[in-house]
Amino acid sequence: MSHSAVSQAAAVSVSIGNEASLRRSVVFKQKNTISFNSKPWSSSLALNQRRTSIRDSKRYTNSTIRMSVQQTSSSSKVSVSPIELEDPKDPPLNLYKPKESYTAKIVSVERVVGANAPGETCHIVIDHDGNLPYWEGQSYGVIPPGENPKKPGAPHNVRLYSIASTRYGDFFDGKTASLCVRRAVYYDPETGKEDPSKNGVCSNFLCDSKPGDKIQITGPSGKVMLLPENDPNATHIMIATGTGVAPYRGYLRRLFMENVPNYNFGGLAWLFLGVANTDSLLYDDEFSNYLKDHPEKFRFDKALSREEKNKKGGKMYVQDKIEEYSDEIFKLLDNGAHIYFCGLKGMMPGIQDTLKRVAEERGESWDSKLSQLRKNKQWHVEVY
Ligand code: FAD
Repeated sequence: MSHSAVSQAAAVSVSIGNEASLRRSVVFKQKNTISFNSKPWSSSLALNQRRTSIRDSKRYTNSTIRMSVQQTSSSSKVSVSPIELEDPKDPPLNLYKPKESYTAKIVSVERVVGANAPGETCHIVIDHDGNLPYWEGQSYGVIPPGENPKKPGAPHNVRLYSIASTRYGDFFDGKTASLCVRRAVYYDPETGKEDPSKNGVCSNFLCDSKPGDKIQITGPSGKVMLLPENDPNATHIMIATGTGVAPYRGYLRRLFMENVPNYNFGGLAWLFLGVANTDSLLYDDEFSNYLKDHPEKFRFDKALSREEKNKKGGKMYVQDKIEEYSDEIFKLLDNGAHIYFCGLKGMMPGIQDTLKRVAEERGESWDSKLSQLRKNKQWHVEVY
């Protein structure tokens, strides 16, 4: 289906900096259609945008852009544009490749964890000017600047990052993508001291980057974490550790924050998030707002491993929360729910063991249940 002329208006209040906040109005007019195969596709767009000065004056400043968007009322959704981003039947894939990457620009880098979080995680907004469209659940590749130490003269290898925004981006205009990046730091096991020469190349480049900096992007890639939208009443059970929450932030903004034409979510979204402590919680304001505004459609369970104990007195991990609700989860899966896993690879064995044990307690074979879930395309895993 192709939308012809579209005219939308959204009034969105975005808070900038720690204290200051201001209201911005965005009015979009969009007339053209989009094809993912004719790149750069945005050159065919005549996007006539009238904005207050906030975006243009603040996007490339050092101001912190807080990601909590206060909608005009708790029940109203934010208008998005260009809605031609809904048109293609298939997701965009590998529009830009390592040998021919896209030069995008950093809009903002914001530390999104508190002082007591172990490590640093940043929310990074990237301006692709509409040239690198993606769908929720896909990843971008980033090529950090510099030489690949293993291949002198060659660029660094691509690192993948799950996209943490919807296809419309954090400014709802289809021109940005956001990443949720944890800075990889190396501590010498003998001295316990940080060794900067062994810190992660790309995550440090991203977390240290400044508004306006150029960044080489590839992709988008990935199909396994796409949000199945053929059934608007589906159940989505989302399991994450740390930055694994990135694709779910995108899903949840699409389900609850954005006014996406012809897509009105009437199902259940249930997020299980495992992090170290309260200060490590990611996008908690956004998720708490959904709980307030859509208690019948959204559930949110947190596992804080360094603050909470599981029923055996050990650390509370995400699989302990899964176990707590295992009856409901198994029933939902039996009724066709989708289950997603995203985060560090190490999360999977504990979760699989828990699911296997619960299945056996219920007199079911986990192996055959798992193969059924895979066959039905209900099982989505992206761990790294
Ligand atoms: P690298 O430079 O690649 O180093 C890797 C690790 O080795 C680091 O921990 C580094 O400290 C350590 N190291 C370096 N040198 C040495 C040495 N000499 N001896 C011992 N150790 C050393 N990450 C996110 O933060 N957010 C995401 O949303 C995200 N999504 C992903 C999605 C997918 C599909 C995949 C595959 C990965 C994803 N990742 C994500 C991980 C990301 O791609 C990178 O792997 C991660 O950021 C580390 O890359 P880096 O360049 O910083 O570290």
